[in-house]
Amino acid sequence: MRPKLAAMRDDTRRWIEADKKHCWHPFTPQQTWVEGEPLVLVRGEGAWLWDSEGRKYLDGNSSIWTNIHGHNHPVLNAAIVRQLGEVSHTSYLGFANPRASELAERLCGFFPTGTLERVFFSDDGSTAIECAMKMAIQYRQQTGEPERMGFIAFDQAYHGDTMGAASLGGVSRFHERFRRHGAPVTFVSGMEALRHLPAETIKDSAAVVIEPLIQGVNEMCPWPAGMLRELREWCDAQDVHLMLDEVMTGFGRTGKMFACQHEEVIPDFLCLAKGLTGGYMPMAATLTTAAVYEAFLGEADRVFYYGHSYTANPLGCAVALASLDVFEDEKTLERLQPKIALVVELLEELKATSSKVRAVRQCGFVAGIEVDDGGAQVCLAAREHGLLTRPIRDTIVLMPPLCITEDELRLAVRAIALAAG
Ligand SMILES: *Cc1c(COP(=O)(O)O)cnc(C)c1O
Repeated sequence: MRPKLAAMRDDTRRWIEADKKHCWHPFTPQQTWVEGEPLVLVRGEGAWLWDSEGRKYLDGNSSIWTNIHGHNHPVLNAAIVRQLGEVSHTSYLGFANPRASELAERLCGFFPTGTLERVFFSDDGSTAIECAMKMAIQYRQQTGEPERMGFIAFDQAYHGDTMGAASLGGVSRFHERFRRHGAPVTFVSGMEALRHLPAETIKDSAAVVIEPLIQGVNEMCPWPAGMLRELREWCDAQDVHLMLDEVMTGFGRTGKMFACQHEEVIPDFLCLAKGLTGGYMPMAATLTTAAVYEAFLGEADRVFYYGHSYTANPLGCAVALASLDVFEDEKTLERLQPKIALVVELLEELKATSSKVRAVRQCGFVAGIEVDDGGAQVCLAAREHGLLTRPIRDTIVLMPPLCITEDELRLAVRAIALAAG
């Protein structure tokens, strides 16, 4: 059992009191939050996190889907310290910086020459999407098709919370109340529905947006194999841009560096964030093609008037570069493959032995475990067995840092088994 407030260390109590008095947490019912006793996380190492009372936990959802190589990684830490000794932030408006140049080159290097070769930096997944949306609309205005200003998105999709990104979202409990304030969006359930859209809708659409291979917030729901390839072909036939939201799936989560590589698909816009910096700093990138970029050249009114104060922040770029180095030096993707196979095995066993587990879903190193009911209670109980994660409704997310060991994976699944009962 967790200690009562009175038995806590003084500083823990102080932090919790200040939190309850002044802080407002994301996606959180504050009414019940202030009645609870939140963990105060103070330290990390590899796949482990420590709270302010000295207890340790496995980071079962990679600190909300961000962490890649583990916490407190010496190579990532050193990259930030090295950059701190040079400069922490300089404006990207009117100036270049070394780490941003290197990172843009490195990101484009994952794709064949002549495809994705231009990078626009921003701050998080939502801004990576906002940026792609604005590029997609302005591109049409500057290539003689201004009527193409709508988007096509998928039911139950999640693309972020800023107003534009939220309008592409299909999760009604998050997005419905803001629907009138967003972009014009047509929702479809899958390829079949897409093929049946009226020709006028397609003619007014700038782009289709999708989370490739698996919808994360939709309780970890994978798409049918081959669907992404079909979508690319449909987009080509209809002259609609393909926008991939790899904010969650990027940087190894699905077993390859990017999900689109599983089906050899190259989008017109690729949105990256969460894992870009190894989960260290808020930073995002929108990649696009020369064809899109070139429509913004020429007269002054073709300029892309978009950006944020911290665009291409050198600390973020430095740690992103270090994270890509670690992928190579530690052979992260190679060493991930047997761990993906182990998750398949462990989840099959869990489903066979726990009567509370209704379904398991997996895509590479991303998994969802659907329990009969009470996903939140199961996560709370798993905490007592040393695992931190969050449910999406009744689906427990299992998405640890890629560096987790096989023994630690067994501990994580065991904690869920014990918690589910
Ligand atoms: C998390 C997420 C976003 C939003 O990213 P933020 O950094 O939270 O703004 C967008 N799309 C997907 C698929 C995500 O998982």
